Amino acid sequence: MSDCLFCKIVRGEIPAKIVYQDDDVLAFNDIRPAAPVHFLLIPKRHIESLLTTTEQDQALLGKMLALAPSIAREQGLGEGFKTAINTGLAGGQEVFHLHLHVLGTPQG
Ligand code: 5GP
Ligand code: ZN
Repeated sequence: MSDCLFCKIVRGEIPAKIVYQDDDVLAFNDIRPAAPVHFLLIPKRHIESLLTTTEQDQALLGKMLALAPSIAREQGLGEGFKTAINTGLAGGQEVFHLHLHVLGTPQG
């Protein structure tokens, strides 16, 4: 998806503050943070939304959820955080590349 904003971030064509990446996923700070820590965790492969995932995406989706707490801990959210996935226009999704919001306030 050449014109997708988050695909451009994956390709390094748009700058972002990357907090984690591996072969499958990328995490970067949200440009309009809604909390002191607010990053987005995305698959590097373009997937439009949860509505377009299939059984073949199970491992990737599981990996994203499993990674969220370890990245969150590194960002100071070891005491807890919120997660959200906005899905579809009716679900408030603005960027149509699947992303998991992770938000919180470092404690102490
Ligand atoms: P959605 O409403 O689709 O769940 O969330 C999209 C999120 O992407 C928003 O929180 C918005 O601030 C963030 N966002 C939009 N454009 C950019 C950008 O160019 N860079 C970064 N880092 N975040 C963005
Ligand atoms: Zn994309």
